[in-house]
Amino acid sequence: MSFATIQDQAVAVRLLRRIVERQRVPAGLLLWGPAGVGKRLAAYEFVKALNCASPTDGACGDCLPCRKTDHGNHPDVKLIAPTDKSREIKTAEIDEVNELASLRPFEAAQRAFIFEDADRMNVTAQNHFLKTLEEPPGPSVFLLITGYPRQLLPTIRSRCQPIRFGALRPATVATILKRDRDVPDDQVEAIARLAEGQVSRAFDLVDTDKRGVVLELVDRLRAGESPMRVADLFKHHLDELKKALENDMVQPDPRDASEIGKEDRARQAENDAARVQAAFKRSVDDYLYLFQTWYRDELVLAAGGGVDRVWNKDRLSTLQEPAADDTSGRIRAIEQARTYLERYVNEDRVFRHLFVQLGSSATEV
Ligand SMILES: [Zn+2]
Repeated sequence: MSFATIQDQAVAVRLLRRIVERQRVPAGLLLWGPAGVGKRLAAYEFVKALNCASPTDGACGDCLPCRKTDHGNHPDVKLIAPTDKSREIKTAEIDEVNELASLRPFEAAQRAFIFEDADRMNVTAQNHFLKTLEEPPGPSVFLLITGYPRQLLPTIRSRCQPIRFGALRPATVATILKRDRDVPDDQVEAIARLAEGQVSRAFDLVDTDKRGVVLELVDRLRAGESPMRVADLFKHHLDELKKALENDMVQPDPRDASEIGKEDRARQAENDAARVQAAFKRSVDDYLYLFQTWYRDELVLAAGGGVDRVWNKDRLSTLQEPAADDTSGRIRAIEQARTYLERYVNEDRVFRHLFVQLGSSATEV
């Protein structure tokens, strides 16, 4: 293991390498960029490189400090991540960080704190953390990993050296998919392409039925099935999804009713609903994106683009069948649905309208 294990992030790796070589470690580093492109891996390789007993281009991976870090039991390396169903980094955890940062490190030259999804610190937690970041009471480095740097207070962002991460190449995502997931060969390339350079998205496409649902609905529309019926199927699917998210993200309050005020309870319910809605919206976006890629591929082929430019390559034979005309109108319809949803137009209406447009001339081919 070394910096060489971090794929496709030459700029970020160069910056991290330089910090290690010069041994001038800033208190705060902001590792930001899309999810699933290697930020967490880079944070760990960096911390290991700082603490390694025999570093060569970063961490050796074999010495005691390296192995301890890999096993999550290095006493001077702490991971802070959102906990429980609220997926927040809570103030209590930050208070613990502040306390630890004031203690001398056990064996390393500095304590390292790796914040996963740092944007999940609530504002109070961020405020508690600010002073420690500004003037660490002991030798410490704070690595803030986030896909949403703007959700951090400007005062926190400005205290950190930013390290930007970009998307991975599809070939890299494909290699990781083959290594970590059992994906049929003919699908690897399509999924790697559709994941837009993010391993986490590729995994999501493999682990959920999103793509299967979209491909099935597209097939139904192409077969001339009633767009209303297709809209109903999609709606049913989204209802199930919402139920699953609620189940997964909302936990019953363990306190009994006498301990908790009505206002607290209402606020909690509001927070829960907002989180579920945000997660639901992200999923709906994923579905719309997948629909869009399908019509994008139709358009590419219709315009005489070679099969190499097709993303849903495992469905090439269907894509090569003659499609309905006005493919770009369909892509526009999807964009429009997205806009309506942003404006909180009733979901059912948006999707019924959308599927009518997607299916409109399918029967006329
Ligand atoms: Zn080592």
